[in-house]
This record gives sequence, structure tokens and C-alpha cells, in this order.
Amino acid sequence: MLDKSVRFLEEAFKEYYFNNLQIIHVPTRPSEREFGYQKFNSGMTRHISLKNDNELHLLLMTQVPSDVYCSNAYYSFPNLPMQEKDWKEADLIFDIDAKDLHLDCRKEHTCYKCTSCKEITNDQTTCSECGSSKFETISTVCERCITESTKEVKKLLEILTDDLGIKSQEIAVYFSGNEGFHIHVTSKGYQNLDSRERAELADYIMFNGAIPETFGMSKQKSSKASFPHIDEKGWRGRIAKEILGSKTRSSKIIQELFSGGYSVFQLKLEDLKQRIGVRIDPKVTMDVHRIFRLEGSINSKSGLSKILCKDLDTFDPFSEACLIDDKKVEVIANSPISFRLKDEKYGPYINEKVSVPKYAAVYMICKGLAEVLQ
Ligand SMILES: [Zn+2]
Ligand SMILES: [Zn+2]
Repeated sequence: MLDKSVRFLEEAFKEYYFNNLQIIHVPTRPSEREFGYQKFNSGMTRHISLKNDNELHLLLMTQVPSDVYCSNAYYSFPNLPMQEKDWKEADLIFDIDAKDLHLDCRKEHTCYKCTSCKEITNDQTTCSECGSSKFETISTVCERCITESTKEVKKLLEILTDDLGIKSQEIAVYFSGNEGFHIHVTSKGYQNLDSRERAELADYIMFNGAIPETFGMSKQKSSKASFPHIDEKGWRGRIAKEILGSKTRSSKIIQELFSGGYSVFQLKLEDLKQRIGVRIDPKVTMDVHRIFRLEGSINSKSGLSKILCKDLDTFDPFSEACLIDDKKVEVIANSPISFRLKDEKYGPYINEKVSVPKYAAVYMICKGLAEVLQ
């Protein structure tokens, strides 16, 4: 990114923070949390302690960070080095990212930037300009990515409330500002789980390691009568619903399922896992020392904000999280992929000068698909 583009982004971010301070708050129990931030073209500054909104707002105005983070963990001494912080407990967090869903549409909104000459192409074989074979991957998300990610979020919410008994008021779903969702659980009952217990919980949610024995099939002695009913709670009921389909208990389907034997049953479970297991990133859930993007802050990978999704069914990140103003800006855009922001489609652009609203200019510059003109 050119220096003038960095200055342009800093200016745009500063203006955003100045105009939106009323929506940017420290989370609950701020003095027990670790905060961190990054500036453009520089490393992470961590182990910061902030007591209130005023201190946060001062940091935003003086440092003009590209990204702002806050721990899900609560510590006695959040500003000391990690081993001296004295970890108390941590909110439970889940990460669902469109990238991890491996959808067909991804190739339509992914392009590659040559790391030597910065040429941007649709495929990553050899750079037509300089012959290099090293590329940086640039991707955007489309409506389908959001719809499919939202389905995963809904599957997760069902398990959290139905299986784990977490109240929906204790769950907050956020758009991450780029390609996915962060789900924060503040339920007291789950805050003191350690990393290993969180990993087990992630396995449960992803339907990892399910064994045929749980559903009545064993290597020695199978019992069709132990096959679950569709109205059972948890994974037994979910598996029964997937296999039986309707509300009636079909002995014919169960008979067929059991007749294949243990290994066929095991393969069937593995197949179902791909469909009904929730595709969360387990590494995020089990990390109890991580710092997460702060609600209301801008994600510098896109220029969109991390915001609360009030209604998942109607949520449109391309409008609702696009909070930078619309003053016209001239950029040199080189974007073989098109994208939508608000109700407008942008691109594709081939090394051309275009005049676009500031939020679209910020989006392209953050993605590495444009440089500002002045
Ligand atoms: Zn090149
Ligand atoms: Zn997509």
C-alpha cells in the first residue's frame, strides 16, 4: 500500500471514530480485560489496560489504530505480561468464517496479487508481468457466503440454547467486519472452563468423534431399539431426524441402516458430520488468552465495522456494517472481482481511475485492490 493510501485510511478511520464514539464502548468489567491495537504497517501493541469509555476514546483519537482488540478473558492484572496477569475466567467465543465453508462461489470473488510486482490476476500460476510465482490471496464475500455462514450461526445458536441451556440473552452475535461472525457467550456457567474443556465443547458442537455406540450400533451386539427417537434432545435426536426424515419411526430405514454393519454406520456418521456439525474454528474457542476485535471498531481488512447482528434473518453486512461516509474519492482501482456495498455494485476495474464513495474507496484500499489518487 502506498504511503498516501495509508494516510488516507488513517484520516478516514479517525473521522469514523470521531463521528461514532457514541457507539464504541468498552465491554463489561473493562478494568479486568486486556486491550490491544495495531496501527497501519506496524505490529501489535498488547497488554493495555483501559478503565472506561473515555480512555478508549482517547486511545482511538491519539493512536488512530487500524484495528482494536479486547480480551474475552478477565485478569487481576491485565497490563502485566501474560504469565503474571492472573487469569480469572473468560467469556466463551465462537468464530464462524465463510472461508472455512469452502463454497464454490469463492473462486468468483478471490484474486491474487503478485508479491514482487503487485500485478493482480484471477489465477495464481505465474505472473504475466514478472514471471514470479508468489502471490497474496485477496478475497471478498458474496451474498451466498453470508447466507451460508448465517446458517452455521443458527445451527450453533440452537445447540447453545437447546443442548447447553444457555439463555439467548447471554449470547451476542457479531459480524466480524470481514468474512464471518463472532458469537460471544457471557453465561456465568461457562466462563471458568479451561482450554481443554472448551476444546471438548467445540468437538461436541462440530459433532467430532461421534461413535456408532451412541446410536445403538456396536461391534458386538447392536440394538435397533436403542436407535434414538426424533424428539430426543441433543445429537441423538438430530441424527434421528436426519436419518428418519419424518416424524414416524421407520423400522424399515433403521433396519437398512443397521444391516450395513459397524463400519458403514461409522461412515454414515462421518458423512452427516459434514452436513449437520457446526463449522466453527475450534482454535478460537479453546484459546483463553486471545484478544478479539472490539465491537464498533473497523476491521482494516475491509473497512467495514464489527457490529452486533440484531436480526440474523434480515442482516445485511454490506449495508449495516458499512459505516464510513459517502464523500466521493478518486482512486486507481485494479480489481478483477466485483463486490457490492450498500445497494451498489462496484467493479470489475482494470487499472482505471474511478470516483467512488469513500466507503468503497476504503474497502478497495484495505483489500489491496486500489490506491488513492491524491
Ligand atoms: Zn509479478
Ligand atoms: Zn461467496
